[in-house]
Amino acid sequence: MIEIDREYFLVKAHKGMTVYHDEVEIEDFEYDEDEDTYFFPCPCGDQFQISKQDLIDGEEDATCPSCSLVVRVIYDKTAFAAKQEEIENTKNPKLIKEKA
Ligand SMILES: [Zn+2]
Repeated sequence: MIEIDREYFLVKAHKGMTVYHDEVEIEDFEYDEDEDTYFFPCPCGDQFQISKQDLIDGEEDATCPSCSLVVRVIYDKTAFAAKQEEIENTKNPKLIKEKA
């Protein structure tokens, strides 16, 4: 995948910012509950990945560990964070702070 890498770096150097290989909606990612990570197939044969925590933090770059491609994750940051908070609160009711 040297060809892809070279092309990527040339474009990146030209624009001086992250150039996304593609933009992918979060619904199209595969979610691995054990790793709390979203995966999407990369053209190099490996997978783009971004953790649930990264998404909650507002991160939108899913990177591939085997090449330098990056895809932008399309998702509603506010809704995603709120939904995760809701799930965590449901799983750990003791963590909900009681109002004094
Ligand atoms: Zn790759």
